[in-house]
Amino acid sequence: MFQDLSSKLDQAFQTLKGESKITDVNIAESVREIRRALLDADVNYEVAKKFTNGIKERAMGEDVLTAVNPGQQFTKIVHDELTELLGQERVDLSVADTPPTVILIAGLQGSGKTTFSAKLARYLKQENNRSPILAAADVYRPAAINQLKTLADSIDVPVYSIGQKDAVRVAKEAVSMAKSLALDTVIIDTAGRMHVDEEMMTEVAEIKEAVQPHETLFVVDSMTGQDAVNTAKEFNETINYDGVVLTKLDGDTRGGAALSIKTVVQKPIKFVSTGEKLDALSPFYPDRMSQRILG
Ligand code: GDP
Repeated sequence: MFQDLSSKLDQAFQTLKGESKITDVNIAESVREIRRALLDADVNYEVAKKFTNGIKERAMGEDVLTAVNPGQQFTKIVHDELTELLGQERVDLSVADTPPTVILIAGLQGSGKTTFSAKLARYLKQENNRSPILAAADVYRPAAINQLKTLADSIDVPVYSIGQKDAVRVAKEAVSMAKSLALDTVIIDTAGRMHVDEEMMTEVAEIKEAVQPHETLFVVDSMTGQDAVNTAKEFNETINYDGVVLTKLDGDTRGGAALSIKTVVQKPIKFVSTGEKLDALSPFYPDRMSQRILG
């Protein structure tokens, strides 16, 4: 993930490392290269500008010029700023004081919602010893319900479904079912459409109102470029979600747009998904991701 961005950033650092003496001029040149690398990777223009201005300010102000190892000092500043851009600290999922914890999953069709719902169930079961139930509230497409059932079967997690009926009812009944079976987590997979539309937003908002989830996660395909950022904004304005899940980070060479989401919507990235298999899911740690991008 982010190979292209990583190698371009590396070039920017090499430029600086190759200089026998570090000056304001070659710091400015490296910062320009970093900005170009970010824009090439499809990072939002304003975000890239703000980010590189921050680096420049710190690099010029923090004794990079007189540091024992200016190249290293500069890399550290970029790492710190990138970690900040990605959210600084990991933010965990909220947990209900009294179970079950209800987690609502929203996003466009094809973003990877259903796959993520199953991945999250697997993750919570295996890593956190939780006992989840999945709710099939994507009621418009029988294929979506079947897909969820197949995935759930493979990880031995129950699914609550009443077929293609009222999504709000599915969500509410799944919560009641969890209570009666003493299951501690309900993951609600909702319907998406190809584009943001009012009907979809209204339905997700109605489910949210009806079940009062402890956590609402917005799932977004990081390969959709700036559309990912725009969709993240629109969903946030309507459903005010708690966290973001970036999917398909395995497929990308660009994908940098997704890195702008935290800055644009001010909501933490909580998970990244890197493949179709159910174990291809990682909790998101800003500093680890920053380290990884900077190589
Ligand atoms: P939904 O319509 O939002 O529920 O999306 P799905 O979960 O059905 O996913 C759409 C397609 O993307 C499916 O073919 C998934 O296997 C695939 N997919 C989901 N997450 C990832 C991922 O992280 N990486 C890759 N390469 N494919 C993914």
